[in-house]
Amino acid sequence: MTQGYQHIVDGDMTSLPLGKVVCVGRNYAAHARELNNPVPTEPVLFIKPNTALATLAGAIYIPSHLGECHFETEISVLIGQPLTQCTESQAQAAVLGVGIGLDLTLRDLQQQLKDQSLPWEKAKSFDGACPVSEFVSPDRLGELQNQQIRLSLNQQLRQDGNSADMLTPVLPLLVYISQFFTLLPGDLVFTGTPAGVGPLAIGDQLDVSLSEVIHCRTEVRAKKREAL
Ligand code: ZN
Repeated sequence: MTQGYQHIVDGDMTSLPLGKVVCVGRNYAAHARELNNPVPTEPVLFIKPNTALATLAGAIYIPSHLGECHFETEISVLIGQPLTQCTESQAQAAVLGVGIGLDLTLRDLQQQLKDQSLPWEKAKSFDGACPVSEFVSPDRLGELQNQQIRLSLNQQLRQDGNSADMLTPVLPLLVYISQFFTLLPGDLVFTGTPAGVGPLAIGDQLDVSLSEVIHCRTEVRAKKREAL
């Protein structure tokens, strides 16, 4: 699925490598509660490999034989400079672009893994599990912590959150992540989903937007079995 995907900023294809995607779970209290998870006292981190990256606009491809696949709509941050144990001002300078993406999650499989206290990778990191929009430079977007995150499924609004409700805002989140993993140019950070997640079906039409700046329309298609 990585084939053909490149990071795009303000309409221009970048030459950045495709890096890892560091994700935060349960960064909105209402979403933690809807899945009966405790509201965490510090960020819950996991990583998707670059083979999970895919283009959000047009079509996304999900496994159709592994149980429910949920959408989680999230602000995505494109890293432009290395960050190791960084400060907030270093984090701010390293944000090259901001976009919107889906942290696709095989929810039934994740539940099985959670029940066995096993890692979630098979549920979160499959090929194509991280479709993402084009990015805009942060100055085009304005205040990072006042952005509207929306997903409509077949014309019905299902997620409508605001980044003001993040438990850990973007810059402190980058600082936190960089205490554990170096972030490199071309890496992405997915910043958690607001409430309203739910299952996708083949043929669903999605409209995903970030405030009035980014709009993506996409259709859900079945991934070929042999591709998994
Ligand atoms: Zn997520």
